[in-house]
Amino acid sequence: MTPETLPESARLKIELMFDGVRWSESLGAAAEHAFPNFYPYRFSPEEQRETGRDKATIPYLMTLSDETLIRVKGTAGAPWQVVGDREQGYRLRHDDGRDLAIDFAPLPAWMQATTDDGLPLAQAGVSLHGDMAVINIAPGCEFFLHRGDEGDSLRCTFCAYGAPNERVKHYDQRIGESALSPRAVARMQQALAAALAEGGVRHLYLVGGSMSDWDQEGARFVELARAVQAVNDHRVPVACGSGALPDARLDELHGEGLVDQVCFNLEVWSEALFARVCPGKERFVGYGNWLRALEQAVTRFGAGNVYTAMVAGIELEPEHGMDWEQAAALAVRGAGDLCARGAIPVYSLYWPTGGRDHPDYFSRLLHYFEALNLGYARIRREQGVRISERFLTHRAAYMQLECDIDRAEASHV
Ligand code: SF4
Repeated sequence: MTPETLPESARLKIELMFDGVRWSESLGAAAEHAFPNFYPYRFSPEEQRETGRDKATIPYLMTLSDETLIRVKGTAGAPWQVVGDREQGYRLRHDDGRDLAIDFAPLPAWMQATTDDGLPLAQAGVSLHGDMAVINIAPGCEFFLHRGDEGDSLRCTFCAYGAPNERVKHYDQRIGESALSPRAVARMQQALAAALAEGGVRHLYLVGGSMSDWDQEGARFVELARAVQAVNDHRVPVACGSGALPDARLDELHGEGLVDQVCFNLEVWSEALFARVCPGKERFVGYGNWLRALEQAVTRFGAGNVYTAMVAGIELEPEHGMDWEQAAALAVRGAGDLCARGAIPVYSLYWPTGGRDHPDYFSRLLHYFEALNLGYARIRREQGVRISERFLTHRAAYMQLECDIDRAEASHV
């Protein structure tokens, strides 16, 4: 690669993010031993006539032979398909003749066991993204329950996963209270201990729905981190993926050695966009406080241990009135500013829901995402910023390109 082009693995990853993979018997067979996708494959009318089915489970993540991790996106009519089988090996084939060896992230044995009280361990609040275990036993986000001046919910506009639905009951989560359910904690600890004992988990990431009181949210993450460390015998690195937290909670998390990194997701750059895209975060914490909390975290955890996830592409929603060049320029400016503060952004591709009928929709999004990743790679190079392998690597980042780009650059030095 040159500094102005993306490396091969990153380009392929983008291509598959956009194109997806069409149905094949091999893809269906892989689902029997692979970690299952949260989204089933939905057959097109033509495929329904051929298969007699309307949907099917497919694998969640595939890996290339260089370990690049890619989410499996089932798309009828995609130019890619999976061929082969478990014994001979799977291959990813494009209609233009490209043919690559792949494998699928497996369903680990621990996920097929149950807790002492009979719950499948797979439902105990520990999930896997490659070599990262994500822990979430309080998924309901209070921002969904608050209303803004126009009567709209204060949830982040892109978020569906924080809805306080039946999962709140599943984990005995009490809205408005920071304390975790002892039963949910015990089940999570059993699942996590089993996952760590089986091997392959290299990072732990704590997440949960937000609370309208950031101090209470901090109390919840302190309790969660203590519970996690109680079974983390080999001290696998732990990241706190809460909302921004006040200083006293940072002191607890750092002073007690409960977490190694924090990741307070700002989601978008610029106060105006933040207020529109994340009205709950703006109302209950505020943009200025969010940035200050990231800076305060740097003073405690040190450079390289403070992160913020960003939703790349939401700027292209029609109501924000930006073309892709303006959106990419704003995002790159934000990346430079955040890095200068010591907070390292990580960008996940977002699919805008508006404007999809526009003829050049995909091309704008693609150009934006490439320009952002190239611009941000330049900033990392110039400022000497490195994403810590203790936080995120190419083995877990399935919707982000930074680790693939940095890895390719390092191999050319
Ligand atoms: S803070 Fe925003 S992104 Fe996080 S769970 Fe709540 S609504 Fe979703």
